[in-house]
Amino acid sequence: MKNYIKADEWKIIEEGFDPHYNKISESIFSLGNGRMGQRANFEEAYSGDTLLGNYVAGVYYPDKTRVGWWKNGYPEYFAKVLNAANWIGIDVVIDGEQLDLAKCEVFSFRRELNMKEGYLKRDFSAKTASGKEVKVEAIRFCSMADDETGAIKYTLTPLNFSGAITLTPSIDGDVVNKDSNYDEKFWDEVSKVSQSDGGYILMRTKKTGFEVATGMRFSVLQNHGATEPIVQAIEKEKYVAAKVDVQAKQGESITMVKYAANLSSQNYKPEELIEQLSDTLNRISIKGIDTMLAEQAAAWAEKWKHNDIIIDGDVSAQQAIRFNIYQLNQTYTGEDDRLNIGPKGFTGEKYGGSTYWDTEAYCVPFYLSTAPQKVTRNLLLYRYKQLGKAIENAQLLGFKNGAALYPMVTMDGTECHNEWEITFEEIHRNGAIAFAIYNYVRYTGDEAYLGDYGFEVLLGIARFWSQRVNWSEDRQQYVMLGVTGPNEYENNVNNNWYTSTIATWCMQYTVDVADKIKAADPEKYAVLVSKVSLNEETEFGRFRDIIQKMYYPYDEKRQVFLQQDGYLDKEQILVKDLPASERPINQKWSWDRILRSCYIKQADVLQGIYFFEDQYDIDTIRRNFDFYEPRTVHESSLSPCVHAILAAKLGDEARAYEFYLRTARLDLDDYNNDTEDGCHITSMAGTWMAVVEGFGGMRVRDGKLVFQPFIPEKWSSFSFHIGFRGALLNIKVSKEGVQIKNASDVETTVLVYGKEQSVKANDELLIEA
Ligand code: BGC
Repeated sequence: MKNYIKADEWKIIEEGFDPHYNKISESIFSLGNGRMGQRANFEEAYSGDTLLGNYVAGVYYPDKTRVGWWKNGYPEYFAKVLNAANWIGIDVVIDGEQLDLAKCEVFSFRRELNMKEGYLKRDFSAKTASGKEVKVEAIRFCSMADDETGAIKYTLTPLNFSGAITLTPSIDGDVVNKDSNYDEKFWDEVSKVSQSDGGYILMRTKKTGFEVATGMRFSVLQNHGATEPIVQAIEKEKYVAAKVDVQAKQGESITMVKYAANLSSQNYKPEELIEQLSDTLNRISIKGIDTMLAEQAAAWAEKWKHNDIIIDGDVSAQQAIRFNIYQLNQTYTGEDDRLNIGPKGFTGEKYGGSTYWDTEAYCVPFYLSTAPQKVTRNLLLYRYKQLGKAIENAQLLGFKNGAALYPMVTMDGTECHNEWEITFEEIHRNGAIAFAIYNYVRYTGDEAYLGDYGFEVLLGIARFWSQRVNWSEDRQQYVMLGVTGPNEYENNVNNNWYTSTIATWCMQYTVDVADKIKAADPEKYAVLVSKVSLNEETEFGRFRDIIQKMYYPYDEKRQVFLQQDGYLDKEQILVKDLPASERPINQKWSWDRILRSCYIKQADVLQGIYFFEDQYDIDTIRRNFDFYEPRTVHESSLSPCVHAILAAKLGDEARAYEFYLRTARLDLDDYNNDTEDGCHITSMAGTWMAVVEGFGGMRVRDGKLVFQPFIPEKWSSFSFHIGFRGALLNIKVSKEGVQIKNASDVETTVLVYGKEQSVKANDELLIEA
């Protein structure tokens, strides 16, 4: 755990330059706008340890799978979000000597991520090896208001000399992915142009054929006034730049403003890309960086209006929750139903930028409450559009009749994961996709979604489950063999309680949804039945039979659901009795030892109880929580939030807070020593859930919002925003009570501590403690 980020309510601040922290900071200070994003690499050259990262959403490369032993059914490739052309470069050469912080004496250094207004600022003063002292201030952002664009304002002041300075703004398409399986380069150059005020480069991805045009325009000011530098355009393979020579005077600043745009063939015809790029660059360079920054601040103000969580009395908690919300908004804006949320967003290469069950299980609640309905709907439509691929994926594994198995990892619907215990066995992901449909409809009341799209997905998933189970003659029950639950520290187990529970729930929900559509619109239902070739009698008959006769492992003695058959045969040594030196076990133990142990990587049975909590009485929840929590090592960042929410439900406020703390500052404090690979974007949504569903006790029941809040001891109050069926609520929980403000024209009824309260349009109420 590190502790170098300075506490501040709205900013993330790093002071002093420690090259050991550079890659961590590059992740933490990342920028993005849903369409493109980048790590906080330096503009000028840096020969120290760095991970370069510029990403364009949805642009990926199918990197040929690399495994030791090929198994039938493995996907051919792992889709990777690509490190794309680097548009931030501004190389600085002072009297022939390159400015490179790795080779300088750094007197002062400060990096600041302004989350309120959405920009990154870096300033430093340093002395080069030959003794030239300079001061630099660099501000940059990826525009939220104009999401194909970004800009940089780079100001350099010579402190102890006058002399020749060359600034070289560039677009560098000659980039690699560090995680490339065969050290291949993924981009080919199509064309490029370099001119005295900018340039562009058009690159095409190998195999997938995406074209991305990245361009720049720049201007230079000397001592805040116009100047006429000598400019020499440069073109090299996959690289355009301009050498800008200025005669600098001691104490007088030189400012380069660099405008950039990234346009992809996903959104334009390839033959139109260059013209569109040029229009975009004209537009933003005429507009100017100050106006762009003002638009950026306004766009973020609008986000914060619906997103912000205010915590009084704890600056570090305030900074952390805003950081989580900020990064989630940088990653996904919901404008485009072809995009999704990679576990690392635009902050690193790990997990390939692809879609996991994290989206449905963790991110959907965040976007449902804090963004317009269409944002979550787009996340759902992403899967709807990939239904055909999910059906193909199931067919490849031998399933029939429209059964759909959604991939564990994907970009375009094709499975990309290639560890057999996950690809073939971690099938619970299918359940989360169905649950997200339920969650969306429960939250929004948008029942039409079911007939228009939801039912087809549900049926595909339910068909898969109905074929994946088998009848056990011995038990006279259905069983589900050879699976991996959310707890990836168990593979190839029989009857994982969570997987079996979500499977039968899916089948039941599918039947219920069919009844609903049929009752509301029999004609529409008939069209759907024929579209999906549904034989209601036999298929629903089988679903019902499975629902009735499914086997779920249970321990009578302890009265708990068993994670899987045989779980109790394991040596039951609790996590508290594990020496600290042996943790995290995924780094200290051999894999076989992990598999034989009782330790649980992340919420598994408890994940199921969290999803379906209304089906269980409080004693059942308590018994299971008390049994599983002491065995859980939380070595996935997705885990503590579920435990926080359940602890809060059980009235254990102190532990709810303790679990919340485990992820709240996960990246800011580099808790797991892995932030240099990128931030844990999807678990950030879990942190939000811990606050809103844990401390706020928020649920949706019978079409109404329900709150059961408490305040963590260290805080004096906290408040959060919730959008619900047209109402825009701000809920503030303090020692005085619960205040609810409704900033919309829609009246709504909520339940607070079990009592119904009506919140009138544009009104507020206080429920005293
Ligand atoms: C977790 C998975 C998760 C993946 C991506 C893994 O460590 O076990 O549940 O989907 O990370 O976040």
